[in-house]
Amino acid sequence: MAFKVSCVDAGSECPGSFTTETERELMEIVHLHQQIAHPEINISDETDGFVKTLVKTV
Ligand SMILES: [Zn+2]
Repeated sequence: MAFKVSCVDAGSECPGSFTTETERELMEIVHLHQQIAHPEINISDETDGFVKTLVKTV
C-alpha cells in the first residue's frame, strides 16, 4: 500500500502527483513541493488537514 496525492485533486492545474510509502513521507514531499511550486499557499496545520483529505491509498 502507498499514499498518493495529486495537485489536480486540490483544484490546481499543477501536474504534481506524489506517491510514497508512508503518509509522513508524503507530507514532507508535499511541503517541499508547496514551497517550490505553490509559494502562495502557507504551510499550516489547516493546509495539512486539507491535503490529508485528498490523500488516497493505492
Ligand atoms: Zn503542485
